[in-house]
Amino acid sequence: MIKVSIVIPCYNEENCIDRLYEELKAHTHKDYEYEFLFINDGSIDNTKEKISSLKSIKSQNHDIKLINFSKNFGHEAGLLAGLDYASGDYIIFMDADLQHPPKLIPEIIKELQSGYNIVSMSRQKNKDQSSVASLCSKTFYRTINKLAKTDFQVNASDFFAIDSKVQEFLQNNYREKVRFMRGIVQNIGFNKKVLTYEADNRFYGKSHYNFISLTKMAIKTIFSYTNLPLHLGSIIGFICGFMGVILLVYTLITRKGAPSGYATLVIFLCFMFAILFLILGIIGEYLAIMFSEIKDRPSYIIENIE
Ligand code: UDP
Ligand code: MG
Repeated sequence: MIKVSIVIPCYNEENCIDRLYEELKAHTHKDYEYEFLFINDGSIDNTKEKISSLKSIKSQNHDIKLINFSKNFGHEAGLLAGLDYASGDYIIFMDADLQHPPKLIPEIIKELQSGYNIVSMSRQKNKDQSSVASLCSKTFYRTINKLAKTDFQVNASDFFAIDSKVQEFLQNNYREKVRFMRGIVQNIGFNKKVLTYEADNRFYGKSHYNFISLTKMAIKTIFSYTNLPLHLGSIIGFICGFMGVILLVYTLITRKGAPSGYATLVIFLCFMFAILFLILGIIGEYLAIMFSEIKDRPSYIIENIE
């Protein structure tokens, strides 16, 4: 019988677990065997106990596995652990807050069974997302697609499914510390099907990500996908050099008295310093990424598996 793993990273989701489990049960078809793989990402509420209590419920067609991290490692680490520990023929990744509707599970499995290796779920509408957040998200995808020549879908989400062939490939080749799984999944080829869905409101609580954390993630992701910002130094240097020549010619021709050039000088200096620090900052970002890759610390630490 075909086995389907459903990977669910959870961080402080005690109020969503029961409802999620009900929904999962309601939409997991009898024709398959299921593994609900919960990754408890160092929750400090009762998420762990809630999931543990589900394990006592006997069911014929699904197993419940709980991986407890030793601390909070972030959503991406949860996805990676799912990749490492899911034992199904098909693996579906979804959030615990019910924004990714479990009712779509049968449709996803149908596509995987028809031969697709990847099913990517494209968010048509996100009831929880403000128009500013939606604009920022679109800008991020457009920027990265232009700079890194990637083909990230504008509405991609962490709701996607892969088969075991893709799982093995990702597990062996995409273990970098700065990862963006939903982006990777869209850029490795294979037979991919895109389905659309409407993201519901969070069932309880609020998102763990705010504008600042999302901006940080966006910058890291762009830098880990493209070296173009590193070339910014040379490009801007060239432009400034050219402007310098024009300024020199202009000064020589007009030969104005020293005080009249004061404002130009100050503006020019400020401008140059700003660029200098910007480029230093960019180099710093790359160094930070390289540093964490070189240290090669684990992306997650498992305390125990229940
Ligand atoms: N999550 C996690 N670790 C974290 C933050 C979030 O495992 O450090 C989980 C969270 O429990 C949820 C999913 O990742 O299942 C998405 O998180 P959230 O709903 O806060 O993000 P958003 O939907 O706003 O992107
Ligand atoms: Mg959410």
